[in-house]
Amino acid sequence: MTTVAIYDARQNRVVTLEKIEKSDAEWKKLLTKKQYEITTKKGTEAPGSCPFDQVHEPGIFQCERCGTDLFRSSTKFESGTGWPSFYEPVSPLNVVEQPDNSLGMVRIEVLCARCGSHLGHVFDDGPPPTGKRYCMNGFALKFAPGGRL
Ligand SMILES: [Zn+2]
Repeated sequence: MTTVAIYDARQNRVVTLEKIEKSDAEWKKLLTKKQYEITTKKGTEAPGSCPFDQVHEPGIFQCERCGTDLFRSSTKFESGTGWPSFYEPVSPLNVVEQPDNSLGMVRIEVLCARCGSHLGHVFDDGPPPTGKRYCMNGFALKFAPGGRL
């Protein structure tokens, strides 16, 4: 069993959890076609296709596949790209950032630290305080409303 340290936003502490490792075929059974294409095959949704782009109420965006806390809506900003955009994750523990040189571009891919789901990419043209723009696929996320997060 492989474990991973994940920050739990509701408990406000770091917890040790089992990593979720499934084959593509297993994920295919659990996800919609669109979710599978994005999270497992590193696809990209059409800009503006996910209603999460419009969510601004207090809460937390979690990994669609495993429920890991990823981004607070307080860190969401209007990027104008049509993809949900955030300036920082709830914790650096909860995401993995790795170089992605596909499609002839040099980008940094963002993955869920617990299940390895492809979430999107991070760029250096975001707003203060971090200057980062986490450009996410809404279909890789689910929204958990909650005023005190
Ligand atoms: Zn996950």
